[in-house]
Amino acid sequence: MELNRGFPAEFRRVILLTLLSIAFGLINGQLEWTLILCGGIYMAWTLWRIRQLDLWLKHSQNPPPDFEGIWGEIVDSIVRLQNHQKRERNRLQAVISRTREVTDSLHNGIVLLDANGNIDMFNPAARRMLGLRAREYGSPLVNFLRHPSFIEYFESGDYDEPLELPAPRSESTFLQLQVNRFGQGEAAIVIRDITRLQKLQQVRKDFVANASHELRTPLTVLKGYIETLKYSDACPKPWEKPLAQMEQQANRMSDLIVDLLSLSKLESKDNQEPKTSIRLQRMLEKVVEEGELVSGDKNHSFKLECDPALQIDGYKKELRSAFTNLITNAVKYSEPGTEIKVSARIKNNKVHVSFIDRGEGIDPVHLPRLTERFYRADDSHNSQTGGTGLGLAIVKHILTRHNAELEIDSKVGRGSTFTCIFASVEPF
Ligand code: ADP
Repeated sequence: MELNRGFPAEFRRVILLTLLSIAFGLINGQLEWTLILCGGIYMAWTLWRIRQLDLWLKHSQNPPPDFEGIWGEIVDSIVRLQNHQKRERNRLQAVISRTREVTDSLHNGIVLLDANGNIDMFNPAARRMLGLRAREYGSPLVNFLRHPSFIEYFESGDYDEPLELPAPRSESTFLQLQVNRFGQGEAAIVIRDITRLQKLQQVRKDFVANASHELRTPLTVLKGYIETLKYSDACPKPWEKPLAQMEQQANRMSDLIVDLLSLSKLESKDNQEPKTSIRLQRMLEKVVEEGELVSGDKNHSFKLECDPALQIDGYKKELRSAFTNLITNAVKYSEPGTEIKVSARIKNNKVHVSFIDRGEGIDPVHLPRLTERFYRADDSHNSQTGGTGLGLAIVKHILTRHNAELEIDSKVGRGSTFTCIFASVEPF
């Protein structure tokens, strides 16, 4: 817009110069030479301005050339553009410094990775927690953080849950890492020191394990005396009912202790026997036999559908315990004589092991919390069935150790299906 104001003036100047040259040429009879001379002078003058401009742009610390007319306006526009750019640069610089100040002040570690997993940036907390040094910039994080669980987690691409692992340079420090993807495949890893939390959890686990263990002996003594009294001829008639109730409650306590100890064992780190290949049919046949034993004279009808070739990698004892829990629940929460079906099949390249009953079903409000410890859908009814509320927590724990999931599908009055979904399929 502003250039337009200078341009007509420049145009007028060129016209005037041409007219003057023509007049002068007519007077001296050398029109062509006069026009060529004047044109040359104008061109030289323009070239000189361009040269001035070029020199100034190359050495922008020099003051801008003092031009008038259109050239002056061009210089003004360039100066304005430069000032704008300078202000933008300063603003961006301030944002970067502020962001750096914020990340530097965080107690959580931050590591930024480029799309190839190379370290782009890290803050002092990350340097402290991971022991990173400046020379690690640009190198892959997995070269530095070599813990197998981190490599597996990082390569899996599934970052819904954070990962917990010991710090690379101090086994007594525990870190929690959460990968957040952004941009074109870049990642921001947030690292938290959870040593204190880990210690508190360990104290809780130890307490539950020790308390359960210590309760075992006194309970065995109590159960022994109750049994002796109950079956003794000298037992007075009015004591029979209280003794039967004492025996029932002592058995419940005993079940609770067994379940708490199983959970503690699952949580403890020393439980690291190797996984083996398990033929599902053989195992499920035994599980169904157990179901028949639990059902006893309730006479549930059991059906097993399993491809004999199916097998999965896992911890045999744990899987057996999970399946037994599920079949026991199917028996406990369904009417005598109803059908209980166990099926193992491949669906979407995953092994689905389902326990299907035609029992009372579960209200959908309870489903999300069913695998929590001591959570029971209907406490008044469940206390009669003698459960501990720990069975599904144990199942969930075992399945997590197998990278498997528990899917619950239930309709009140129609029955429930508990399906264990194992990620990989291995043909036998
Ligand atoms: P419990 O020892 O009480 O059976 P679980 O953890 O095994 O504890 O199960 C938690 C609750 O889930 C049970 O109390 C019961 O309400 C419900 N539940 C589990 N399995 C079934 C099932 N097959 N049918 C109906 N309800 C079930």
